[in-house]
Amino acid sequence: MGKWKIVTIVGARPQFIKAAAVTRALRDDQRIEEIIVHTGQHFDPNMSDTFFDELMIPAPRHHLGVSGGGHGRMTGRMMERIEPVLADERPDMVLVYGDTNTTLAAAVTAAKRHIPVAHVEAGLRSFRRGQAEEINRRLADHASSLLLCPTAAAVANLRREGVTDGVHHTGDVMFDTSVYARDRAVERSRVIERLGLEEDRFQLATVHRAESTDSREALAAVLGYLKEQARQTAPVVFPVHPRTAQAADHFGLDFNGLVACEPVGYLDMARLLSAAAAVFTDSGGLQKEAFFYRVPCVILRDETEWVELIEAGWSRLWRCENFKPRRDIDEYGDGHAAEIIIRLIGEFLDGREE
Ligand code: UDP
Repeated sequence: MGKWKIVTIVGARPQFIKAAAVTRALRDDQRIEEIIVHTGQHFDPNMSDTFFDELMIPAPRHHLGVSGGGHGRMTGRMMERIEPVLADERPDMVLVYGDTNTTLAAAVTAAKRHIPVAHVEAGLRSFRRGQAEEINRRLADHASSLLLCPTAAAVANLRREGVTDGVHHTGDVMFDTSVYARDRAVERSRVIERLGLEEDRFQLATVHRAESTDSREALAAVLGYLKEQARQTAPVVFPVHPRTAQAADHFGLDFNGLVACEPVGYLDMARLLSAAAAVFTDSGGLQKEAFFYRVPCVILRDETEWVELIEAGWSRLWRCENFKPRRDIDEYGDGHAAEIIIRLIGEFLDGREE
């Protein structure tokens, strides 16, 4: 029997962080060859290359160079360029992550070529039907053969949609990456010194979603909230996502009163989390990472897919008053979700050969 070939298709910052865990575990697996494809959705060095370097992700074999241009154009161009790569590589499976246009383009293109798709982070739902991420994740799930769910809630969401075949609760690969990076971050990162911060005497914020940045009113409300937190409590470090920088510029809003900086690398982010007193974010990944570091988090949104964070008292929505009583969360796993995912992929591919 030859090796199985898997094509992993990524393109956005959170996908590099998730794929890092699985890619590392795949390198130890003699049965599987992994080819990485980068769509180009995020292309700034501090949104892309830094993560490949720091998390030791092998260089992509194919770089598709697609970014910007609106959802339809971006997704369409990705599909157009993914198709010949799949025709050429002829993989046994395509592996996708999360809920971006890259996820959607890859899942649909592979499914239409009858290549089974494995979706890591399957089953998450915000229940906001018009939201870009929600559209991407629903469609990707329904095009996938292997639905790898980080939480019990995700499994239940799929069941409600009638999807039960190939559904598994694996734990969260972001926790794997967080465990991998924690000690390295404390050892190597000098971000606390560079930004002139003191341990436990600062707060950390990120903002990048369309709901927060697409209108002047929404962005002004979020920035006003962060500035108020900085005034009342402690400095707020704010690594600014390119989309947010562009929106602030366009709407004539500023970051005065915040410790604004360029997006930071993963190790710097891990170091900031290890020392922050509180987190404010509209990011799906960061709200969980706040819990990994046991930092309370205010979610700058009106809903979250990571409902267990709210139930267990580690996060609250910004317009809700109080945190619920705190308890631990074990469903994200023990830092070995990637190994579970690889075992399931192996079983799936084995089953197809019989
Ligand atoms: N992140 C980072 N540097 C930054 C901001 C975020 O390394 O300046 C990391 C963060 O720690 C998390 C991931 O990027 O692991 C979250 O990505 P993002 O907020 O872009 O997307 P989402 O999680 O909302 O899909």
